[in-house]
Amino acid sequence: NEAKRSGRSTVRVFDAGMDEGHRVRRDIEAGLNQAIVRDELSLAFQPIVGRGSLEIVGFEALVRWTTPDRGAISPGIFVPLAEESHLIHELGDWILDHALAELRHWPGQYVSVNFSPIQFRRSHFVASIMDRVRRAGAEPQRVQIEITETAIFDDAEHAAQTLCELRKLGFRIALDDFGTGYSSLYNIRKFALDCLKIDRSFIDGMGRERESAAIVHSIIHLGRALGLGVIAEGVETESQAQALRVAGASHLQGYLFSKPVPAAEARALAERKFMSLSGEHRAPPSLV
Ligand code: C2E
Ligand code: MG
Ligand code: MG
Ligand code: MG
Repeated sequence: NEAKRSGRSTVRVFDAGMDEGHRVRRDIEAGLNQAIVRDELSLAFQPIVGRGSLEIVGFEALVRWTTPDRGAISPGIFVPLAEESHLIHELGDWILDHALAELRHWPGQYVSVNFSPIQFRRSHFVASIMDRVRRAGAEPQRVQIEITETAIFDDAEHAAQTLCELRKLGFRIALDDFGTGYSSLYNIRKFALDCLKIDRSFIDGMGRERESAAIVHSIIHLGRALGLGVIAEGVETESQAQALRVAGASHLQGYLFSKPVPAAEARALAERKFMSLSGEHRAPPSLV
């Protein structure tokens, strides 16, 4: 009958979709394997600015992969694929080395590097980072390590120890995508952190949903009560920036100030030291 037939054809279409998805995925995995030797990776850098002065205090390094046949592939797609294999370690090492190499071109800003939970949980994580930092001639004080809640809450004991060691060496620690994981607020205080990064989804919802605004306020309140910095990420509008200032976020990051930019552009921004707002948001020129 009709229902059964259409049901079957739906299944068939779905299966074909899965096959195609599978093929694309295998392609990407195979390509990722070669991405480093083929020189297809790069880093983009997005400024993190002081809430009021718009001073650029650091840059988040974000990995980019451009393939000859598929163009740019989002890290939201290939980082999870790399995490399913050993590739994440090779990729992570490449990212760290290239992020550290940029530091000497900036007058004083830190670089904020994302680490996968898999990297974080690997034995000798601390020694391996420190080794790369030393070889780059960098100071741990200018390196911020971004990890997510998932990385630390699965094995809280071990994570607390690792963070403590990193902190003693002088690294800055940021808890990324804060609010999206399942961390207990009570546990946060056990970890040696420097700042919380409020997930973009809450900033995005701030002007529309009371819930998002309430969550943003709670995170800022919590961060301040614990003596942590609070970075709001994904700030796109002046009204979001204003609401975040009023709420007490210490730092802002987002398209309002700058998209992630290539290394050469980041160097120019770093030299300038302060962001200005583009277009209608630009401050009037000083008359003095
Ligand atoms: P994330 O670490 O939370 O990075 C923030 C993401 O938000 C970045 O996306 C950034 O480009 C984007 N973003 C920043 N400001 C705005 C804004 O105002 N509006 C909008 N719509 N988006 C904004 P991206 O670069 O695509 O990275 C996505 C995720 O992929 C990252 O989330 C991170 O989890 C992962 N990732 C990116 N680079 C790396 C890396 O080098 N290592 C690792 N392990 N993961 C990375
Ligand atoms: Mg991040
Ligand atoms: Mg984030
Ligand atoms: Mg994210």
